[in-house]
Amino acid sequence: MAKRKPEIDPAEAKQAILDYCKRKGALVVGVASLDALERIAPPGFRPTDIMPRVKSVISLGVGGQTQGAWTVPAKALGYFGSTESRAYTICYGLAYYIENKFGERSIYCPPDMDPDSGPRVPLQSVKLHAELAGLGARSLAGDILLHPEYGYMYFSSVFTELELPHDEPMAENPCPAPSCVSMYRQIGRTPCMKFCPVQCLSGKIDDDGKQEEMHYEMAACAEMSQQYETVPASIMNAINADDPLDREDALFDPDNKMLWYKQSVGSGGLLAQCFECMRVCPIATKAPLADPILRYQAALEEED
Ligand code: SF4
Ligand code: SF4
Repeated sequence: MAKRKPEIDPAEAKQAILDYCKRKGALVVGVASLDALERIAPPGFRPTDIMPRVKSVISLGVGGQTQGAWTVPAKALGYFGSTESRAYTICYGLAYYIENKFGERSIYCPPDMDPDSGPRVPLQSVKLHAELAGLGARSLAGDILLHPEYGYMYFSSVFTELELPHDEPMAENPCPAPSCVSMYRQIGRTPCMKFCPVQCLSGKIDDDGKQEEMHYEMAACAEMSQQYETVPASIMNAINADDPLDREDALFDPDNKMLWYKQSVGSGGLLAQCFECMRVCPIATKAPLADPILRYQAALEEED
């Protein structure tokens, strides 16, 4: 006969989970309110649509770029700027950890696109999970989540049938930073809006220096920074070309040849952002613990 499971204290279990994630490299970890997620996410994209008996949604964030990364040109940053795979690895391990330690079903929440909805609609919004878990607030840069201490992070989630106490969203949004408000008062744009190469960001800041409106043209950003739809487009051009030289151009033009290269190495450069909005963002680059050097300095100061 199977032995009865010991009682699990939800607060102790949550602490063990936070400790595990921090040990593995997460900077922040939280639990989103399942009720709020079920209310806010549209039908078909709620946690229970993936895992019907889910009780808790755990979200974690890992650090974004190193400080050095911001010093390289956009063409190089596109290859290594994203660190989301680190977050995915920790969540993958966390699902095993919870099943091993607490005997409750858990899954690494797939961060991938919904096969029924096309390549722009994810199965779940890991951003919404992170926001409701209090790990970041929506910025004027296309809703990228920002954290007042850690700046710009990458997020991943675990769903579990283990009951855990949830956290609250952040009470204050660090975006716009005071210097962004000053720039907006002078030129009507914030740094992210001004330096986006395709000008896909716009918005308004109110008299109190808070976000009033945010507009983000996803298609323009995607055309600039997410090239996976360019691949079938260039194949289509090759198929439709009447002239063999045009066909060759569609496949072997230097720009298009880069697409084959990125595909063959599985480069995040096919999927990532162009990063220019974050390169100029004072929170992403200058928040007190935004990169490993700043965290190293903070640790030294703590030792004194
Ligand atoms: S990733 Fe690039 S194109 Fe997209 S919003 Fe940021 S700066 Fe603009
Ligand atoms: S640059 Fe950063 S802090 Fe400033 S408005 Fe844009 S996203 Fe917000």
